[in-house]
Parts: sequence; structure tokens; C-alpha cells
Amino acid sequence: MSPIKFNERLSKIPEGVLHKYLELATDPSILSLSVGEPDFPTPFHIRQAAIDSIQLGKTFYTPSRGLLSLRKEISSILSRKHHLEYDPVNEIIVTVGASQALEAAFITLLNPGDEVIIITPAYITYVPIIVMCGATIVPVVTSADNGFKLTPEALNAAITDKTKLLVLNYPSNPTGGVMTHEDYEAIAKILRLKEIVVISDEIYSELTYGVTHASIAQCDGMREKTILINGFSKAYAMTGWRLGYMCSTPEIIKNISIYHSNAILCPQTISQFAGIEALKNGDEDIHHMREEYDMRRRLVIDRLNKMGLPCATPLGAFYAFPDIRSSGLSSMDFCSALLQSKKVAVIPGNAFGAAGEGYIRFSYSYSLQHIQEALDRMEAFMNELKK
Ligand code: PMP
Repeated sequence: MSPIKFNERLSKIPEGVLHKYLELATDPSILSLSVGEPDFPTPFHIRQAAIDSIQLGKTFYTPSRGLLSLRKEISSILSRKHHLEYDPVNEIIVTVGASQALEAAFITLLNPGDEVIIITPAYITYVPIIVMCGATIVPVVTSADNGFKLTPEALNAAITDKTKLLVLNYPSNPTGGVMTHEDYEAIAKILRLKEIVVISDEIYSELTYGVTHASIAQCDGMREKTILINGFSKAYAMTGWRLGYMCSTPEIIKNISIYHSNAILCPQTISQFAGIEALKNGDEDIHHMREEYDMRRRLVIDRLNKMGLPCATPLGAFYAFPDIRSSGLSSMDFCSALLQSKKVAVIPGNAFGAAGEGYIRFSYSYSLQHIQEALDRMEAFMNELKK
């Protein structure tokens, strides 16, 4: 057989390094800080709701947009927590994790040649999907100096008449940066005058420390231009359940539904029952996990700064993004040397785009004991480098 001709766009996807580091995370001899996944098991009452649904034989397909009862809970939590109103019938789709919401949004909206602005350092999966759609990435570089926020000046400089989408992700993976309502107002002022759709990936909305989560959809005139994406993985420690959702206008949701319903038929039924329980009764779980992450965050930032790796204080998510330039090493070399000499895995900042060069991503979604041991080894590594 002659070689299979794969989709030519595949070859345009930049070769990621994340893959290698995620693989290392499964090696028991390596102390890994590379995965962005809660170390907590899914709270018991949420697991029980799924077990109940199985025992009751609720194992059939659901509507492709998800169970209406789940969409009603999503609508109510967005109203209660973020003062955003979305109609459960026409404005919400339940998805297979936030990941599938992102994929469905990109596929539905993008045509070859469209430009998509992403804020870098950026979450790794945006680029490959956008590339598969034949669209062009326009990276906007953010910096530690202002907490990795998007500024109106940087946004203005990136917009052209081909700009179709702006992808926002605050709290940010990998930087832990957040945007306040005032920050978004300045951005909205520009966007209100443009035909640009915003994809706002708010998967870390429950993980902010000392600040209230803000959404660009809360700014006047922006709800109509925004696709808000969220999910259960981070807030409720439900990564393996693969459950997320997206909210927007009836027009946008109707169009995304055309693709979504054909692509997946419906999201996992059992997970949806677990999701209803999470939204109804999960506030205390979130509170408990957030307190724990916050405590780890303070320890990590304090120790990284003390060992000579300056780190802007992350106000959200569960990542620290320290500056490693004082080591004299590139991000890749730093991570390779740390791995080799101390068996600690962190992710090179440039895995999140060129703007991440000179940084590493340290995930503190690990137990305190694990984090402390990793920090001790990193400190020893830094001391050896200084000699
Ligand atoms: N967006 C961001 C910024 C993420 O960090 C992740 C998970 N790492 C996702 C989306 C995907 O989340 P899910 O598990 O809901 O697919």
C-alpha cells in the first residue's frame, strides 16, 4: 500500500514538548510537577450520584445539548456566581470536557485564512485545533511585569481586518494570571466596535485567590459576542469524567449544535448526573480544595523566590510560572538538567509558546509532601548551579 496521505494541516502543528513531560509523570522514579490535574479524588457525593444513575438504569443517550436538568443547573450557577444569565434551552451546550467545547467552537467559527488572537504563554491545545481549521494564529505576548494580563494596547496592535476570534483564558494556564472586571472593561471598549467573537475559557473560574473571578461576558455588549466555556475538571476534581459546557447566544449555539450533535451525539450520560450533583451541592468541596491550593501556592511562591527563581504571584489556577533566566539556562536546558540531576519534572515555559522562554511551569496541584520534596530538590539544584 502506498503511504497514507494524512490531512496536510497535521504537519503544520508545532511539535509539542508537553507530551514528553506528561509521559514522565507516569514514571514512578520521577517527582513530577507537570500535570495540571487536581490531586483530590472526585468528592464522594458526586461519585455516588453517578453510581445511583447507573443503578437506576439511566444509561441512555441524552439530548445532544445535554440533559435539560443539567443545563438548568449550569444556568443557575452562572447566575448565582457570576451574574450571567443564559437560557438553558437555547444558550447552553453540555460538552465532553471544556476541550470539546473549544474544538466545536473553533470548527464552527473558523474558515481558512481567518486570524485568531491568542494570549501567550497559552494553554497548549488551542494552537493545534486552530491550525487544523486552517486559520492563522496571531500571538499576543504578555509579561510577568503586569501579571500576564492582556492590555488594550497589545490587543489593538494585534487586530487586523482578518481577525475572527480572540481566545481568552483567565485564570490562565500556564501563568496563573487573572483579569479583573476593570481590565476587561478596557478590552471591551475595543471589542464593542469590532466584529470579533471572543472565546473565553474560564475553566479555572473557581480557583482564584483573594480576587473575584471576572468574565468578559459581564461587560456591556460583550455577552452577545462571547462564547463562555467552562467545565467540571478543575473545580470539582472531575478530570476523568470529561464534562464541560459552553454558553452563548441562540444563534451561535444553534450553529455550534449542528457540528456538536453530529460529532458526539451527546455527552456521557453518567457524567451528566454526576455534574448535576456537583453544581447543586459542590460549593463546600470547592471551598475546601481552594483553601488547600492557596496554602500550597503561598509556600511555592515564597520558596521559588527565595531560591532565586523570581515568580509573579499567581492569583488563579494552580500553576506558578517562575523566571529561570538567572540560571543562565534556556527553559528546555533547565528542565532537562533538573530532570537528570534531581529527577524532578516541570514543564519548559516555551512549551506554551515562544513567549514562555525563560520560564517554567510548576503545577501545585500535588500533595504538600510531594511539593515540599520537589522544592527541596530544586533548591539543591539551584545551589549547585550557583557554585
Ligand atoms: N482549558 C484549559 C486552560 C485547561 O487547562 C484545560 C485542562 N488542562 C482545559 C481547557 C480542558 O479541560 P477539560 O478537562 O474540561 O477538557
